[in-house]
Amino acid sequence: MTDRYAVIGHPISHSKSPMIYQAFAAQTHQDMSYEAIEAPLDGFKATIERLVSEGYKGCNVTVPFKFEALKLCKQLTGRAQAAQAVNTLFFRDGAIFGDNTDGVGLLADIEQNLKCKLLFKKVLLMGAGGAAHGVIWQLFNAGVTITVANRTVEKAQQLVSEFAPYGTVIASSYEALAGKTFDVVVNATSSSLADELPPLPEGLFAPQALAYDMMYGKQTPFLKFAAEQGAAQLADGLGMLVEQAAEAFFKWREVRPDTAPVIARLRA
Ligand code: NDP
Repeated sequence: MTDRYAVIGHPISHSKSPMIYQAFAAQTHQDMSYEAIEAPLDGFKATIERLVSEGYKGCNVTVPFKFEALKLCKQLTGRAQAAQAVNTLFFRDGAIFGDNTDGVGLLADIEQNLKCKLLFKKVLLMGAGGAAHGVIWQLFNAGVTITVANRTVEKAQQLVSEFAPYGTVIASSYEALAGKTFDVVVNATSSSLADELPPLPEGLFAPQALAYDMMYGKQTPFLKFAAEQGAAQLADGLGMLVEQAAEAFFKWREVRPDTAPVIARLRA
């Protein structure tokens, strides 16, 4: 019988996940289906319960349900536990298990696809929401020092206090970044969705710096600013999207898909 999977979000019609997973399944000859399901804002739990009862094998979770998904899990992977957010669910014998593949996806894109080695680098992580939570632990594993800047500074401070045991991390306002430089600047805010630029000071990018926007599919104010400020390398989040999906696919199906042709197809 064909194994069923889905992505749950609100809204969800824009999602590229069905296209990505269908490409992975065809490439690796997996008998599986994958669909996008929009859950009502107050109906995430009921939607997951329906999928479990109908025999689905798992699902991905996207905005705004990643924190809610965590609460439904019987067991979490270490990286989901650290992130306190879940983007991948497994259903086994009526129980729900949670993982978070966002951090692995970001690292694979930066280190493998973009050939930017992170060890000893100074990273500025902008944002303190679900995406920032999802990637910060994995960034520590790559051996970087991290500054977290957020519009609401208290949320950056909260995130930093959660992750302080793992490595060097400080919280900052955008204004307090003046005079500092970074090797890698990751925009994990949703500012690009609204075509806005967080109030970044000038002179932020070190020589050879990478500017990375998790948003994809359009020219963002952040990447435009980074280009004007002389960042050496610019990247959007499409590679991360495909890489985090590949990690979830590997966990579900125990076979690792080749991401390069899928990224190329989406870019085309
Ligand atoms: P959340 O809603 O959880 O968090 C949003 C964050 O953005 C908060 O830190 C918020 O600050 C900040 N923010 C929003 N608007 C502005 C603004 N105009 N200026 C400065 N800061 C702003 O969202 P997520 O963390 O889940 O997602 C963030 C982005 O990352 C989304 O665009 C999402 O699509 C993308 N993403 C991409 C992935 C990929 O695979 N490429 C994977 C996951 C996410 P405050 O706390 O002050 O409100």
